[in-house]
Amino acid sequence: MYHLRCYRLVVIGPPQSGKGTWSRIIKAVMEKKLLLDYLSQNFVVDLIENFDFEEKENLRKPLFPSLEATGKTELLSGSHNLDLRVFSTGDLLREQIGRKTKLGKEAAAYVQKGGLVPDDLVNKVIISKLSQLGYERFLMDGYPRTVDQARMLFDHAHNYDTRAHLGERGAKSPLIRYHEIDLVISIDCPDITIFKRIMGRRTCPQCGRVYNVNIPQSRPKRDEICDDDGTRLTIREDDREETVEKRLKIYKDNFRDIDNLVQRRGIPKLSLPGEGVARELPEKHSQMPVNQMMVYYLCRMLDFPEPLAVKLSKQIYLSLYSGQES
Ligand code: AMP
Repeated sequence: MYHLRCYRLVVIGPPQSGKGTWSRIIKAVMEKKLLLDYLSQNFVVDLIENFDFEEKENLRKPLFPSLEATGKTELLSGSHNLDLRVFSTGDLLREQIGRKTKLGKEAAAYVQKGGLVPDDLVNKVIISKLSQLGYERFLMDGYPRTVDQARMLFDHAHNYDTRAHLGERGAKSPLIRYHEIDLVISIDCPDITIFKRIMGRRTCPQCGRVYNVNIPQSRPKRDEICDDDGTRLTIREDDREETVEKRLKIYKDNFRDIDNLVQRRGIPKLSLPGEGVARELPEKHSQMPVNQMMVYYLCRMLDFPEPLAVKLSKQIYLSLYSGQES
């Protein structure tokens, strides 16, 4: 079980293992965890179990009687800046390819063949993104994919912390702590499931909507036709069978090395299931929608008490999947 205040997270897993779905959920849960950690660190811990987010407005005043200026205004105004920025290198690369930038043109050939884009190109994209974000709170989906990328990321984050610690960056937010990466989350998924998911993926070349003909709830209404604009769906160049096998092999070879580095550096790691989360939960939760189960499962892995995990799972599920505010 983990008792971390997580700010800088890395999500790794084979293609189509559910990294994207998990990343959205991890972001939402971790933002709640950041807030709870912040509160529990400064105030009464036993309030937390019964903390009601809907009652936040009413609780604010009694909860924050003496908090010094550091971050108080941010937190009380709701603009507490606990936002965890999620980004996926696959998306960042596809964006460069779509815009036909120099980097995008170089990367395109590798992406189409299902190979890894060379480290120096990917690292450029990542460094520029991280500089914009200030290395403070992020969740990376699909990076690092090689041990050299991992080293680059860990070292950069670490150097940035050292500079910040020495005061070069001036006044620091009280919400930042001095670590390289707080948690590596790996999504475990059997090969057979990955194959099925990848082979079923279809994209609308017109609007970009993604379907999956092997997942009932993601199928288009008419075979191979986009529900929204009637365009014939296409298969992503790097989703063809021979390419998929190659991607999986590359992934496994690299994963071993990254895993060793993570262990050597003592970075905490959490494994999440890429399928069959229901099997991991008590029978009494079997009626929950799958994505709500995922939220609940993560809350429990992070040691949220049962009643809070149930409550948050419902709240986060609704906010993510029904367009309601959390
Ligand atoms: P994804 O959408 O994450 O499956 O990524 C699609 C493709 O982008 C991959 O098959 C690679 O060609 C490339 N790619 C994404 N992330 C990386 C990375 N960290 N390093 C190298 N290539 C990457």
